[in-house]
Amino acid sequence: MNVLLVVLIQEFIASFRLAVALVCVGVSLILGGQWLGFVPNAELVEAKGRQALCESIAINASGHLRHKQWVDLKTMMRTQVERNDQLLSIGLRSDMGTLRLDTGHHAEMWPKSDDEATRVLAIRVPITLNRRPWGDVEFCFRQSATSAFSPLSENSVYRLVAFFALAGLGSYTLFVARIMGVFSRTQVVPDRVRQALDTLAEGLLVLDEEGRIILANRAFATTVGMDNEELTFKTAADLAWSFPSTDRTDPVYPWVGAIAGGELQSDCILHYRLPDGRNRIFSVNAAPLGGDEKSRGALATFRDVTHVEEHREELEKMLGLLRNSRDEIEKKNGELEILATQDALTGCLNRRAFFERFETLWADAKANKTTLSCIMIDNDHFKNVNDTYGHHIGDEVLRRVSALIRKRHQHHGLVCRYGGEEFCVVLPNLSLREAINEAEQTREAISQIVFDDPAELTLTASLGVSELRFNPSDTQELINQADCCLYVAKREGRNRVICYNNTMQQESEEAAKPLERVKAKQLNVSYQAVTGLMSALSYRDAKTAEHGRRVADLCSRVADQILDPAHTYLIEVAALLHEIGKIGVPDSLLLKSDKWSASDLQILDRHNHNGLEIIAGAFNCKELTALIRAYYQYQRRGMEADAELAKDPHLDERIRWSAKLLVIADNYDSMVSGTGSLRDKSHAEAMAYLRRDTGNKYDAAVVAHFIDAMENRVPTLAAGAFSIGKQAAIQIGMDVERLTMAITKQDLGELKLYVDSLATTADQIGVDSIAFAARQIDMNTEEDERLLIDIHTLLDIARNAQTEFLRESLELKSQLTAET
Ligand code: GH3
Ligand code: MG
Ligand code: MG
Repeated sequence: MNVLLVVLIQEFIASFRLAVALVCVGVSLILGGQWLGFVPNAELVEAKGRQALCESIAINASGHLRHKQWVDLKTMMRTQVERNDQLLSIGLRSDMGTLRLDTGHHAEMWPKSDDEATRVLAIRVPITLNRRPWGDVEFCFRQSATSAFSPLSENSVYRLVAFFALAGLGSYTLFVARIMGVFSRTQVVPDRVRQALDTLAEGLLVLDEEGRIILANRAFATTVGMDNEELTFKTAADLAWSFPSTDRTDPVYPWVGAIAGGELQSDCILHYRLPDGRNRIFSVNAAPLGGDEKSRGALATFRDVTHVEEHREELEKMLGLLRNSRDEIEKKNGELEILATQDALTGCLNRRAFFERFETLWADAKANKTTLSCIMIDNDHFKNVNDTYGHHIGDEVLRRVSALIRKRHQHHGLVCRYGGEEFCVVLPNLSLREAINEAEQTREAISQIVFDDPAELTLTASLGVSELRFNPSDTQELINQADCCLYVAKREGRNRVICYNNTMQQESEEAAKPLERVKAKQLNVSYQAVTGLMSALSYRDAKTAEHGRRVADLCSRVADQILDPAHTYLIEVAALLHEIGKIGVPDSLLLKSDKWSASDLQILDRHNHNGLEIIAGAFNCKELTALIRAYYQYQRRGMEADAELAKDPHLDERIRWSAKLLVIADNYDSMVSGTGSLRDKSHAEAMAYLRRDTGNKYDAAVVAHFIDAMENRVPTLAAGAFSIGKQAAIQIGMDVERLTMAITKQDLGELKLYVDSLATTADQIGVDSIAFAARQIDMNTEEDERLLIDIHTLLDIARNAQTEFLRESLELKSQLTAET
């Protein structure tokens, strides 16, 4: 039933009850008044009047009797009967019982017996003559009609009470109902309630079960720009609401939900379009009204959250942009990671990335007591390919062979370009037998590679296999074992797979051949320790660490073509760590933009010494320490030191050569990459400087190799002295990734931490734009929006830096590919 009708009926019943109460009170008062005599008795008055009339007629009659005026007496009696409705007849009866005079039909009227006494009201008044009783004057009055209600109708008090009760009930009910406002449509909710609701700041609607508005408070009416009368009895859903764009397909108005479901609906967001076109946003709560089972309507409150919501939407939008930025940066980080870990020509892991991962696999295998195999692969007579068909075909061969190896092994193991035409494959969870099998199939597959041009070119490769069962003490020894087999395979005629056995090393040593490859075994330099030190240096001075990485790249490129893999690895490690002593150099010196003074150089010298101690202590590798020591000598004294170092019986020729190369690569990078006193040189200028100082600062033969390698093999590497280095770009990317994660978590503490960290990294690497943008951010600001905009700017700059770096790297890669 319509809630309004119910309310009306309820109100009416209440009014009726009140009217009954009022009537009861009135009736009690009337009866009480009568009992106390305050209410006049009409019958008594009438009886008294009758008695007085009879008395006066009787007195009159005795006067006429005394004078024997019978005619006058009769006339007087008739006149009295005629004038009085109630008086039916008068008779004058003597003592003897004779009716001497009468009017009307008194003889018939006058009751003869007691039975007849009720028919008329008979009154007898005695009269005297000369002080002696003469007779009576008899009166017959009209008797009032008797009925079932006669006591009521006859008794005026009862009549009054009955009338009062009936009329009072009707009129009181109407009156009370009127007071309670039953008849006013808008008065369904009493005025005092309405007034109370009007004082609320929040908009409020009382709705019936059909969702029609029974009451809208003032705040609601004002907000939606309509007046109260206009709103009353409108269906609330017909107002200009709209739902915010949500993923719910069929949104329901909260009050509709509350009425239908009988449950409280809270904090639902609704939009409202004002007549002037503006939009307001409300947070709506709706509670069901009425009985337990069935809702009779709802009470809905409307909090205007336009400002808050607009602000929130703005923030959401910003966060969305930031998330996109983060995703893009993540993607770029992934690309950079590939660039940093891959060999450009073959797409295999470079040695650094390979060793890092190898250490992890090694540790896992040890921890889980699983197996790990290593296969070394070396192209047979590769030099001949270069010599016969030229370097570009040599490169193509390397690409084809590496692609084949990667395709076979990359998905479950590591594939590294270990040397020029040498690949190292590490396969976890493979037994020795399985590894030999894999190696055999790989050899077979390499021999089946065919070329369109030159069509006659056929390839073979020699492979060495080892596995953990031969108890290598570390990753390098496992490689050395496989490498040793490789040597045996070469010796036994190439194009074959040889597996390690315990007598092999002994044999090879007995053969008393200076086995170049086995030398590597003595270079017991853990790559994990190298990475650990590099991380420490990066943290302290990212610029120097990045320089170290670039120099290592340069050295290994040049050395790859001259030295054996073990010594190439050695110079790479030496290049990475050659400035490790800077860990202890104070910031004031590290960040100094002026030229270093003599005393500064003294401090740096001391730290070089410390560096040497760190390296000697950390690796206990004679060759590495000797290389670094020689490098310091050449760096400080140039070729003057050469004669002296050449006489040192403990200093291998290759170590001296490496130290001289390290000096050249180090100074070259300082010139083109903007550190040191000769910074900001172009590649050509740097080359000119190298040539100019040949014989004096640098060894002529090594410079020649360096220039040859740089100009013939990797010409653009020099020109591509990137604005930011690979590692730096990755580091920035990581910081940015963490920063956006902090934004997503809305963790201000973390956010501040990463903004600071990004600023520091950017400072150290020298990417001023990022450092500046990071420092612009006011973390204490109250305005979230401002903060997000600033962070967005920062991310934009960081992303652009990465894009720039990737572009340069990819250009370099394609140039390299084009040239070969
Ligand atoms: P063996 O069968 O004994 O292995 O003979 P080999 O000729 O394959 O071995 P050697 O180590 O004497 O020669 C390797 C050559 O590979 C020397 C070097 O010029 C060449 N080389 C190294 N890196 C590259 C490269 O990136 N591209 C080209 N085209 N040649 C390379
Ligand atoms: Mg070879
Ligand atoms: Mg080789």
